[in-house]
Amino acid sequence: MAKTTASLKKYRSKRDFKVTGEPKGSARTNGSSKELLYVIQKHQASHLHYDFRLEWHGVLLSWAVPKGPSLDPSVKRLAARVEDHPVEYGGFEGSIPEGEYGGGTVMLWDRGTWTPEVPDVDAALSKGELKFTLNGKKLKGSWVLVRTKGYGGSKKESWLLIKHRDRYASTEDVLEKKPRSVISNRLLPEIAAGSRVR
Ligand code: MN
Repeated sequence: MAKTTASLKKYRSKRDFKVTGEPKGSARTNGSSKELLYVIQKHQASHLHYDFRLEWHGVLLSWAVPKGPSLDPSVKRLAARVEDHPVEYGGFEGSIPEGEYGGGTVMLWDRGTWTPEVPDVDAALSKGELKFTLNGKKLKGSWVLVRTKGYGGSKKESWLLIKHRDRYASTEDVLEKKPRSVISNRLLPEIAAGSRVR
């Protein structure tokens, strides 16, 4: 529990919860449920990117993927590790006010569960190679996150998100084919407009 709270310190320090509608989040023990949440949020901030999140130890481990995931196993997508987010963030869709951290529009692009393909997730994360299966609405099957040496100067860890070869691998552009929210069926501009009305 203490670990979770410490892990969310950075997330909270970046945000003013009186201004943004994003969840403050709390530690979560995930007692009975063995299901681990997986979520991708399409985030139109200063630059469009896809936030890839995997629940682990009661928080969402998070990576910002500028080009989004690819179903093509020959394509490696850069994924910058960012601060852990609260599990409640996995239910957030809407607008973050301009001027706030991450200001812009957030869409729940995909959501489901994930299963580690390794016996020890913590060891895999420190080693820099995590294999897992996704069971989302849009993304399924086997994937891997691999840490790279990164580019000098950047404080953020660089990882690569890669699809493994299986029956869900494809050269189809899933980002283009399935651009809508998995919970509201809205496109980004519709989410942005909807939030303004509220
Ligand atoms: Mn983001």
